[in-house]
Amino acid sequence: MKPGDAVADAEPVDAPAELRREARIDLAAIEHNVARLREVAGTRSLMAVVKANGYGHGSVPVARAALRGGADWLGVVDIVEALELRDAGIDAPLLTWIHATDADFASAVAARIDIGVNSLDQLRAVAQAVRGDSRADVHVKVDTGLGRNGAAAENWGELFAVAADLESAGRIRVRGIFSHLANAGDDEDAAQIAAFQRALAAAADAGVHPELRHLASTAAALRVPASRFDMVRVGIGIYGLSPFDDATSAELGLVPALTLVGGVVAVKRVPAGTGVSYGYSYRTRQETTLALVSLGYADGIPRLASNRAPVSIRGGRYTVSGRIAMDQFVVDLGADECEVGDDVVLFGDPATGVPSADEWAAAAETINYEVVTRLGGRIVRRYPS
Ligand SMILES: *Cc1c(COP(=O)(O)O)cnc(C)c1O
Repeated sequence: MKPGDAVADAEPVDAPAELRREARIDLAAIEHNVARLREVAGTRSLMAVVKANGYGHGSVPVARAALRGGADWLGVVDIVEALELRDAGIDAPLLTWIHATDADFASAVAARIDIGVNSLDQLRAVAQAVRGDSRADVHVKVDTGLGRNGAAAENWGELFAVAADLESAGRIRVRGIFSHLANAGDDEDAAQIAAFQRALAAAADAGVHPELRHLASTAAALRVPASRFDMVRVGIGIYGLSPFDDATSAELGLVPALTLVGGVVAVKRVPAGTGVSYGYSYRTRQETTLALVSLGYADGIPRLASNRAPVSIRGGRYTVSGRIAMDQFVVDLGADECEVGDDVVLFGDPATGVPSADEWAAAAETINYEVVTRLGGRIVRRYPS
């Protein structure tokens, strides 16, 4: 008998029952959103940003859905995230833009991952990592006023001169020049677009002519036509969420893709005046029914949303009652009923009658980006077809 045989012959063992902590992700919605953003932006290329595990939605399934929806580039933060996509068999053009001091540029070049370059040092490190007769594809990142990554204006001349030399030596190709907006207002956007034009002129003066100039993320792709250039890099929009305070997903023609679902794990009838959860920040006003839900702040449910955020159970809408704890929270159902095992929807597509990620963001004094990306490691992602 070989070592594997005993396992193969054993009775199938059911997976242990787990508490319901599910993110249900509608990949058709992601396809739709990409197509919608392509249509609105009208650019030659569209990069779907799938960093941070696809904003919590699962980077590999999202990347595939985005490509089906018409994205022709994928964007992630670092080379580690990019190699995960390559290992999953995704061969679309891929850009990374933040690098560890000891980043593995050689593996990136070998895997045809484009490298965002922020400085002369990085440009030289990338050129040195090129083996044999291969060539690194780089996108030079310029700081046009965000004050984060990207080369400062006083370094553009030297950076592009060295880039031009390395290009003629066949070590690199400057495939793109890019920058990122601060979304600080119309005047600030215009100033950054003007600075970006100066960077493009500095590149041209040095003999560098990249095929892809890109500046806009979702907000600017939707509302600032002058920022669109050859490609937009869209993240939040492909997940169906709005980057704006003054426009909902539906108003932008986008469909939220993620529905966060917990389960009812206990139901009990309690008298008026019952204190609920730590600190008794909630007390029942009359005799009522309390439902206990299987999600807590360890799952990324913001504690700040205690006594504020909405949930949906059996189509009814309720508010979290009392403090959100590590693994659970309570909902006062009033005169309504539910059963152990019922779904509790925290947020999803409001067009289906459930609360939105925006409502959770407001309840937790944050933005929808944080609500979806902070989901914890116990949440299981499901992709219903
Ligand atoms: C995250 C990110 C984006 C996407 O931003 P959204 O607002 O989610 O569209 C685009 N470009 C860069 C450089 C980013 O870091």
